[in-house]
Amino acid sequence: MNNFHDFCRQALQGQFDAQTFNAFIAPTVFALTDGNLTLAVPNAATERWMRKNTEAALKQAIKAELGEEVQVVYRINPNAPLAPATPVAGRTTSESVAAMPEAALPPPYQAKQGNRTNLSDKYQFSNFVRGHANEIALIAAQNIAKGDSSINPLFVYGSAGLGKTHLIQAIGNTYAANFPRRRVYYTSGRAFMNEVVAAFRQNKSDQFKNRYHNLDLLIVDDIQYIGGDKARTQEEFFFLFNTLHESNKSLVISCDRTPTQIKDLPQRLTTRFAAGLPTQLTPPEFEMRAQIVRQKAEERSVSLATEAVHFIAEHIKSNVRELEGAINRVSALAKFQNKEPTVEVCRMAMADLIGQANVALHPGLIKEKVAVYYHIRVSDLTSQKRQRNVVQPRHVAIYLCRQMTNHSLPEIGREFGKRNHTTILHSCRWVEERMKDDPEFCSELKHLEMSIKE
Ligand code: ADP
Ligand code: MG
Repeated sequence: MNNFHDFCRQALQGQFDAQTFNAFIAPTVFALTDGNLTLAVPNAATERWMRKNTEAALKQAIKAELGEEVQVVYRINPNAPLAPATPVAGRTTSESVAAMPEAALPPPYQAKQGNRTNLSDKYQFSNFVRGHANEIALIAAQNIAKGDSSINPLFVYGSAGLGKTHLIQAIGNTYAANFPRRRVYYTSGRAFMNEVVAAFRQNKSDQFKNRYHNLDLLIVDDIQYIGGDKARTQEEFFFLFNTLHESNKSLVISCDRTPTQIKDLPQRLTTRFAAGLPTQLTPPEFEMRAQIVRQKAEERSVSLATEAVHFIAEHIKSNVRELEGAINRVSALAKFQNKEPTVEVCRMAMADLIGQANVALHPGLIKEKVAVYYHIRVSDLTSQKRQRNVVQPRHVAIYLCRQMTNHSLPEIGREFGKRNHTTILHSCRWVEERMKDDPEFCSELKHLEMSIKE
């Protein structure tokens, strides 16, 4: 349900005055995940307020709409500053740029003019596959593209190849299409740094300011590169950030780590970055990987059988860029050999990608090991039997699948006799509860885990 976020916001609209709404509800992202209502909130104060004032109303509205009781889960920004960031009035510009590397002033102002932007139009929301791994970030992104600046800045972080550039460029493209007269500019931490250096070397700081300070949406990719010994760049960025933020212009930032992990970044900047909604992109789960494989194959006019899709999705787990690489190889080899891209062709094309480390753990293996360990049959695990000697191993097997594979809850459910995702979650919780006060059970689990990894 794509508009679930809007639905939740609307359910709360009108119950609070505008100021309260803007302070707590507007910066929150609402998502429906595995039957849970997830609220991604910028800080602990927001969580407390939302719990107290909105939880019951949200549950009720969702029950009325979907006919389902939902659990509410809060995802809080781990980098939240203790106090809200306060804008600064002036700035000092005493740092010298003498030690900066030589750089040329980049080509003329490329920000949006008419219908043109400096974005690549291959990055759209329509070809961005949604999954648990990017859900919160995607909802926030779509909101910004609609012109809503209550989440500001949006700070998207995660390791390489997980879709940061794609997502933030899609924001820019959609925003530009929605608001043809507004100015959008995309840059990277490194390009920004070079521009600052060049502008000050060539005494063109006014030109620089005109370029940046009149934007409606600024997107900065890979901001980690303004860290380090770059005082002037950081100074300029801090000033720019405040200028845009104060006039309610949107800022979107990507980074390969959390704000606090950027090396040598002054705290005043870290605090600014963390004050919006830092959202993480995580490695995609199995279903999302399969969907990405299907989509990328289709884009390349390669027709992949389900087994081949699953083979690729099971073997390439770490990131989307590698998945794309695998599909490219498979399609090249199939064309070269003039063959259908079967599982065999995939195996050949991907031979060196399927290193030991990348071999996906499959639920089948986990089920086997658990069954052997508890002296029951694999079929008992997937059956509907309710005997104690079967139910507990089943909980354990489900829990281990959740921990050790990238399979999603519905996927795991299917592996265990078409159980639904709530049952799967229940099993995981059962195991977690028991682990809390049963050390013997914990060591049983450790032992099992080791034997699965062998
Ligand atoms: P990052 O900037 O995090 O290193 P990119 O945005 O460059 O990653 O993504 C790497 C490649 O994977 C790009 O070609 C991008 O289009 C693709 N990609 C990443 N995430 C998705 C997704 N959710 N759906 C479709 N394609 C994706
Ligand atoms: Mg990138």
